[in-house]
Amino acid sequence: MKLYNTLGNKVEEFIPHNKELVTMYTCGPTVYHYAHIGNLRTYIFEDILEKTLRYIGYPVKRVMNITDVGHMTSDADEGEDKMLKGAKREHKTVWELAEFYTEAFKKDTEKLNIKWPEVVSKATDHISEYIHMIEVLLKKDIAYSSGGNIYFDVSKAQDYYALSGKNPEDLMVGVRDDVEEDIHKRNPADFGLWFTSSKFNDQAMKWDSPWGVGYPGWHIECSCISIAYLGEYLDIHCGGVDNIFPHHTNEIAQSEAYLGHPWCKYWCHGEHLNDSSGKMSKSKGEFLTVSLLEEKGYDPLSYRYFCLKSHYRNQLVFSYDSLSSAQNEYYKLRKRVLNLKSEKDVFQEEGKTYQEKFRQALENDLNTSSALTVVYDVLKSELNDYTKRSLIEEFDQVLSLDLLKENKQEIDEEFEKWILEKIGERKLAKQNKDFAKADQIREELSKKHVQIKDTREGTIFELV
Ligand code: AMP
Ligand code: ZN
Repeated sequence: MKLYNTLGNKVEEFIPHNKELVTMYTCGPTVYHYAHIGNLRTYIFEDILEKTLRYIGYPVKRVMNITDVGHMTSDADEGEDKMLKGAKREHKTVWELAEFYTEAFKKDTEKLNIKWPEVVSKATDHISEYIHMIEVLLKKDIAYSSGGNIYFDVSKAQDYYALSGKNPEDLMVGVRDDVEEDIHKRNPADFGLWFTSSKFNDQAMKWDSPWGVGYPGWHIECSCISIAYLGEYLDIHCGGVDNIFPHHTNEIAQSEAYLGHPWCKYWCHGEHLNDSSGKMSKSKGEFLTVSLLEEKGYDPLSYRYFCLKSHYRNQLVFSYDSLSSAQNEYYKLRKRVLNLKSEKDVFQEEGKTYQEKFRQALENDLNTSSALTVVYDVLKSELNDYTKRSLIEEFDQVLSLDLLKENKQEIDEEFEKWILEKIGERKLAKQNKDFAKADQIREELSKKHVQIKDTREGTIFELV
């Protein structure tokens, strides 16, 4: 298996510490709002990585955190706590907010067939581990106390900039005038491990600590949660590219300083999904969520298909047009698979060539678009339907596109009435030579898995 490792910036052969159990840590959501479909692109990539590892024979233990405290609105420890800001916006307690959006996130992952990791752990459940790690860092003189807060001294970290390839000068250029510098830090790149002297008096989540009542910095949770469940040697750590700096850089610094040896070997990052105006955001423009896509008539799995068509390390621009065409392709693909005969037959030897090709595509740094091409190649092949079905069923363990799931939608009376009305409207549009409208109605039906066909007897429909 070849994977691109951000640490070293090259594609490398994946060799786990212990092939009996691959350990994988993925940074989880900050539960102050719904996940946008950009966030979910990263979770789809991580899901494919986990399922590929399993497909090629590795047992995997995957851990994910839920950030419910300490993530500032600016990644560099500045600004306001995202959870606190969310709680004010919704007139909820931070605890209620966390519970609500954790549940919403879980539902989104279910709709996208993203497997829930074996261990999902809330940041607020591990305060004693953070305190312990910080105590060790203080003892080793790598952390220091200043103005009531505890900071990590980056000048004492080994090769602090290895992951990001940045240098201290770059960072100085990055410091924005509108971000107030924390005067307690020795060096602007130092980061907070524990805060007792909060900028916000109404910080709701606080715990006792040897340094006074306070709350943890954002980065410490991932180091401690990972080490607690996966041990001192981690195989793979994932996230989106925005996590490379400062989050993952700081995770490496504090974990390795604490452990006294290298920590994680492979750092894998998914590129962003952008909208036409650039970076996707939860505050500006249209807030793109899975529920919004559904309201607009898209199947969440069409979005998964849309993501799998491109490589996780390429930026992807979202538009409704490209999602619509992905959805059309996806429905056609499903229909072709569902039309395969389901009788038992012999599994043909030639089927193995396709298994090999599928595996090679994924082993090549998760080339999902080539993996999808193998599905189409199977369908085009001379193999018997039983072999085709068996192969696609196997491939769908990784792709998770429900390719063999019978129609997900039942036709009830009300739905049938709606379909017939739409067919009637389309007929009228065609009679009036309003072909644009007729096409638009076809599209609307297609979004609800209804495929229509004009025959001499009239328009017929079927669910795909
Ligand atoms: P957050 O909830 O902000 O902590 O982000 C959750 C995950 O989404 C992290 O792994 C981020 O790196 C990732 N992420 C944030 N924005 C995007 C985006 N536009 N496209 C893809 N992944 C993203
Ligand atoms: Zn993290």
